[in-house]
Amino acid sequence: MYNLVEIFESLQGEGRNTGRPCVFLRFAGCNLACPWCDTDRTARFTLSLADLVREVKTFRAKSVILTGGEPTLVDGMPELVAALKREGYWIAVETNGTREPDWLAFVDYVACSPKAEYPDRLALTRADEVRVVASSEAVVAFCAAVRARLAATDYYVSPCDRDGTIDFATAKSVLARLDGWSLSVQLHKILGFR
Ligand code: SF4
Repeated sequence: MYNLVEIFESLQGEGRNTGRPCVFLRFAGCNLACPWCDTDRTARFTLSLADLVREVKTFRAKSVILTGGEPTLVDGMPELVAALKREGYWIAVETNGTREPDWLAFVDYVACSPKAEYPDRLALTRADEVRVVASSEAVVAFCAAVRARLAATDYYVSPCDRDGTIDFATAKSVLARLDGWSLSVQLHKILGFR
């Protein structure tokens, strides 16, 4: 059984896949507690594997984003990934990078958002994109450490959102001191879509 917060269809709002129509599966639970986190991580309902796949198929998008919370904590993820692959879905995972389960090798896209507040928790070694939230100026050193440990195609800095106030100034300042990083905004928050 899978503990979920919500399932909905929208456009990916950040990173390289911005604008891609996707079904979002938000799983409950996280192993971190970032001070600025605005994500609901409380389980709202539980579904079996068959019911979860059936629910995904009610939406039009043929891409799925496994997010959270922290989806790498979820039991039964290899079975879910295999079932969605059998149905022809493109699958992305959004992870905080604290775990590197084997099933990540079978998804199409890994977006990792390691947290500067937990510099020693980064376990992931490969991803497609990395997004670091610019929660303070100190993130510059963290980004350099992340780049040395986590191989990815794209590296992004995201403005920190504290209670609806988006801190673009710190993100801009951080980016000015880094090479090879670019800005990723949370377009869904700016444009007001989910
Ligand atoms: S890793 Fe993500 S979901 Fe977990 S506490 Fe941090 S911001 Fe929230």
